[in-house]
Amino acid sequence: MKLSKKFVVPPELALLYDFVNSLDLRQYTEKGKQHEGHDELATAGQLEEWMRERGLLGARAHVSAQAHRMALKLRAAIRDYLGVAPEDRSAQSQAIVQLNELSAAFPLAVAASGGGRITLDPAPRSSALARVLGEMCLLSVTARLERLKVCSSEECLWVFFDRSKPGNRRWCSAALCGNRHKTRSYRQRQREREVSSLRASLRSI
Ligand SMILES: [Zn+2]
Repeated sequence: MKLSKKFVVPPELALLYDFVNSLDLRQYTEKGKQHEGHDELATAGQLEEWMRERGLLGARAHVSAQAHRMALKLRAAIRDYLGVAPEDRSAQSQAIVQLNELSAAFPLAVAASGGGRITLDPAPRSSALARVLGEMCLLSVTARLERLKVCSSEECLWVFFDRSKPGNRRWCSAALCGNRHKTRSYRQRQREREVSSLRASLRSI
């Protein structure tokens, strides 16, 4: 099942969403089950399958080892970029430099089609994965790219699309990652209180 279907994200960013989350770094326990984390694109063969499933690769075409390496680098660069908090993305950063460098290997071209539609499609001889960058570009133009962000939980790091009205969510799920964070900070505060009252009672001895 495609992740974009499972988590119901707008169709125009489905490919981008599936691509960045093909690296699953979740390590928390959900409903008694421990997330193990895995990479859907660990090998060139897996990338071929992933692309074929999405109509990005012909039945007989193959992904070379070099193309596989580049795809993983592109994914890392996009994840790093999305990992920058939206309010900080306007500042120059290593993530921007890296994304621009990688994007050069996945060129896009303007494609006009019937119906007056103009889209950004992979340029001739470019990898079909360039479509991921096309989706990113569209999201930026429609001011929704800042809604795509990495979950603030270190043991999650899932890339989620923030549908909340103010667009200020930090966690992919308030019920899971948000709650874990709240419980943890509550325990932390409780421990601090216990330590300071213990210190106070020791001083009074
Ligand atoms: Zn999360």
